[in-house]
Amino acid sequence: MTLPAPDACPCGGSPTAIRRKGGAVGYTDCCGRFIEKGQLPPDALHLMRSRYTAFVLENESYLKHTWQAGYRPNTVEFEVGAKWLGLDIKDYVPTGVHEGHETAELEFVARVRVAGRAQRLHERSRFVCEEGQWRYLCAVT
Ligand SMILES: [Zn+2]
Repeated sequence: MTLPAPDACPCGGSPTAIRRKGGAVGYTDCCGRFIEKGQLPPDALHLMRSRYTAFVLENESYLKHTWQAGYRPNTVEFEVGAKWLGLDIKDYVPTGVHEGHETAELEFVARVRVAGRAQRLHERSRFVCEEGQWRYLCAVT
């Protein structure tokens, strides 16, 4: 088993992140650009990765900022003692422009261990781009 570098990005490395020698992708060069430096994720794929990382870091303000206002909860609940194990993107489809906004759908599996039990969160989600900022809308039902 290879342990990730201590500062490795929880999302596992987005497509445009700068890979260091050995292939590890640091948080600062990956989701940290969006979560802490205010850069705009170029697409829903990068946004999804940064939101996963924000869940791992329990960064409520970033999660709310990237939640479309009509769907945004007042508070974000974090499972106590949850250990996030990884994110797999299964599908990503730009779904065109609706009412002047770019939209996309993305299917992911996030693995998490809570109280010793491994769980899989499997969701197909909808995203919208508002003034250059991609935001999460809701699950596709
Ligand atoms: Zn990342």
